[in-house]
Amino acid sequence: MRTAILFALAPLAYAAHENKFSRAEERPFGITTDLAKFAEQSYDYIIVGGGSAGLVLANRLSLNPQYTIGVIEAGQWQPDEDLINVPGMFGRGRNNASLDWNFVTTLQPGIHNQSIQQPRGKVLGGSSALTYHNYNRGSREEYDAWAEMGNTGWDWESLFPYFTKLDTVVPGDVGFLPGLTQRPGEANLRDGASSGPVSVSYNGNDTAITPWVEVWHESWLNNGAYMNADPEGGNSTGMTLTARPVDKEKAVRSYSTNAFLEPVMDRKNLYVLTGAEATKILFDEASLPENITNVEESELVATGVEYGTPLNSTIRFSVKANREVILSAGSLKSPQLLELSGIGNSTLLESFNITTILDIPEVGENMQDHLEWNADYLLKEDIPWETWDVYRNDPARDPAAWEEYKANRTGVYNSSPATLGFFPLQTFPDAFNVSEIVEELDRELAEADLTPIRKKQFEIQRRHLVEGKVTQLEVAFLARGGVAHSNYPPLPGRSYLTAITFLLRPYSTGNVHINTVDPFAAPSIDPRYNQFSFDWKVGALWTKFARKVMLSDPIGQYIERPVQPPENTTTLEEWDDFCREWTISVWHPVGSTSMAPRDIGGVVSPKMVVYGTKNLRVVDAGSMPINIAAHTVATVYAMAEKMSDTIINDRRIEDLNFNLQRPLKTDPAPVVAPNPITNEN
Ligand SMILES: Cc1cc2nc3c(=O)[nH]c(=O)nc-3n(C[C@H](O)[C@H](O)[C@H](O)COP(=O)(O)OP(=O)(O)OC[C@H]3O[C@@H](n4cnc5c(N)ncnc54)[C@H](O)[C@@H]3O)c2cc1C
Repeated sequence: MRTAILFALAPLAYAAHENKFSRAEERPFGITTDLAKFAEQSYDYIIVGGGSAGLVLANRLSLNPQYTIGVIEAGQWQPDEDLINVPGMFGRGRNNASLDWNFVTTLQPGIHNQSIQQPRGKVLGGSSALTYHNYNRGSREEYDAWAEMGNTGWDWESLFPYFTKLDTVVPGDVGFLPGLTQRPGEANLRDGASSGPVSVSYNGNDTAITPWVEVWHESWLNNGAYMNADPEGGNSTGMTLTARPVDKEKAVRSYSTNAFLEPVMDRKNLYVLTGAEATKILFDEASLPENITNVEESELVATGVEYGTPLNSTIRFSVKANREVILSAGSLKSPQLLELSGIGNSTLLESFNITTILDIPEVGENMQDHLEWNADYLLKEDIPWETWDVYRNDPARDPAAWEEYKANRTGVYNSSPATLGFFPLQTFPDAFNVSEIVEELDRELAEADLTPIRKKQFEIQRRHLVEGKVTQLEVAFLARGGVAHSNYPPLPGRSYLTAITFLLRPYSTGNVHINTVDPFAAPSIDPRYNQFSFDWKVGALWTKFARKVMLSDPIGQYIERPVQPPENTTTLEEWDDFCREWTISVWHPVGSTSMAPRDIGGVVSPKMVVYGTKNLRVVDAGSMPINIAAHTVATVYAMAEKMSDTIINDRRIEDLNFNLQRPLKTDPAPVVAPNPITNEN
């Protein structure tokens, strides 16, 4: 039914879109799909990827009218797409070919040899158009760890101003959750998050968040969890009403396109090409000295980007960059582009007959992700409150809900996941014997062949685990069934709750590489899920504990039985097996072009410049040096904000030096008239 309504709306929406589009076409700036036209001029900065990071950069760099910015984005501008805009449609843009690259992993031995989805946004706005509306930061120690990895200037204190610069926060309702005495988001406001481009708000009664959230919280609080009213202030642990990137007034998603790009689209120095895929980075031939591929001796100069479209895969265009090429194609695509351009592991590149211009074996390596497990609980028939299952059980209610949203911006179509909890293992001593877990981890790590960068990461990660101050685990909740990837589809007429458990500091580390020279093909993604038994064993203990909470009062009194995993999952071995079989990704792959010192295996410097190049940066989730225990988009935005400042400052200094080096304008020597008496000068 909903689909029919969407299609009915579509022609109107697209008509509006076409008008905007043709207006942009008439002028030499704006958004275009004309591949040839985009190449008619050069740009100071070419940004590959108009996604989360890319559009922050586009906005901030184009603030100075003297800099010209060209963005190349593979997806299209879709300002009227309900699957993006409507909060209650979270998750439905996934697997849609007009929005999602639809990547999958290679077969993963750690999850019973399955291949799982690894979606990424292929649309202007990138993955920020597909998020499930969880918007948060990690803890102070996690960002300080980036500096500890050797990245000077990347710590909590340096990133904090960029986090607050990003947002305009509308605090949530007070007293909405038990134990939350302060309005959620109030602290952010205090910290200055009041005029940034991303609109942040909270679910409330008008968003159909049901009393289930309240009883769920009570059960967790009864089992050792605690509340945190200020999770964005440097300590992210605890439970809270989660911030969501939703414009409170309009009740639509706030993402990089409508936050960072659309408001500045009339800037005459900003050009966006959509529907075009970068296929190669171009370099100044003179900067490619023969036989020198080692990073220390190289100073490659990027001069532009080659691009095309899979619709006509033999035609290529090239566009010139006057100053820099910035890759923001995301953690799964930026490494691919580097490798196709000859930057990567020379052995791998040779196997594809690609000439290595820079041998950086860590390109595409060091990729970290977060793990997730979903568990379904069947509710009793005589429950006091509805769940979102009513829209499945009684499809006739769906059009009314849709109309309510369209008319008032309220109801289930304005709701998204409302509440998350973040904890170290030590919060739940009944579930985790930390010293035993650490002992086993140490044995595993001692046997593993670790690269220097992973050794450094694991040293920090292990310390965080032992200290017990920062998040390792996350838990979330949805008042509906059918969320879990399950053997048991929801029963007609019945209602469910879903408990979602996450492991946010796994040790498994994988990679993403090319597996063909075809630039339009998907990369080969091998996250090596559950490479270390720590990951699935902690996942199993956590998911098992979450069941104990779900069956405890007050929420437990409403539950008839666990469905997935079934009731007879009781021993640790059975939970281990469940967690290996049903692991999914939280879709937070990071680190594939890690920012770290070159001598431990970094790909980019603290200025996110690719080592061995003068003017090629990678600014996206791939540059995170070590994953954070939070959902990733806010951090990606903050990274791009900080990099924008760095690029602008560098340019100011460069321009200043240039002016200082120019010969000083000297005044001509004064002509002195001869002394009328002596006739001398
Ligand atoms: C389904 C899903 C749900 C998520 N939910 C959440 C959530 O609730 N909360 C949260 O914080 N995070 C969430 N994330 C993660 C978050 O969205 C990402 O970490 C973040 O957006 C990554 O930003 P990025 O700039 O690195 O990449 P992206 O935002 O993915 O941007 C990369 C852009 O580059 C483009 N591109 C790629 N290759 C090329 C090329 N060759 N030429 C031109 N353009 C190219 C892509 O089309 C894309 O637009 C989710 C991710 C997904 C996929």
